[in-house]
Amino acid sequence: MSTRDTNILQGERVQLPTKYGHFELIPFQEKVSGLEHMALIKGNFTSNDTILTRIHSACATGDLFGSLKCDCGEQLIQAMKIIESRGNGIIIYLQQEGRGIGLMNKMKAYKLQEIGMDTIEANLQLGFAPDERDYQIGAEILTTLGVKKVKLLTNNPDKILGLEQNGIQVVKRIPLIIQSNPFNKYYLDTKEIHMGHQLREEIQGNQCYDN
Ligand SMILES: [Zn+2]
Repeated sequence: MSTRDTNILQGERVQLPTKYGHFELIPFQEKVSGLEHMALIKGNFTSNDTILTRIHSACATGDLFGSLKCDCGEQLIQAMKIIESRGNGIIIYLQQEGRGIGLMNKMKAYKLQEIGMDTIEANLQLGFAPDERDYQIGAEILTTLGVKKVKLLTNNPDKILGLEQNGIQVVKRIPLIIQSNPFNKYYLDTKEIHMGHQLREEIQGNQCYDN
């Protein structure tokens, strides 16, 4: 395949049986930064199909360790289960830890939250925007996979905008409803109130430090 006109290189497509279903995995690498991303794919589709899609930004603490400070890990598992049950869909796993500020800065932000700042104030204090994520590469990966239209598993309106600005049509948003816990409730409330995330069932939505 030609990757001449893109910002990304596509790697080998392999089978990936998981606890949550049988998927295929394709790695992608950004040519300039070398950052590596993944597409987890279920089923077959054509470019005319509207594909159930999750754009998930890496959250090492939530995805790997099951941190209760956010809901990333639960969102990822829920998305995998939904896609497995529907028999068709894609998860794009983007290396943009900590809403795009990286692990070191994310821990600085956590430290500021330990002394009373909310997740937005902490980012601003560190000189970052509340959300530094970029969905151009995610959109480019979808385009490379032949996807033009998606039903997006998200609670984050910025993701819809980010994909649509990069040529992916978001036909529908499907919420991922995650129960809050005592450790992430303040964080989730902040995202809902100040970042426009839609976390409640009646209005749909999704949340997390990274997602
Ligand atoms: Zn997280």
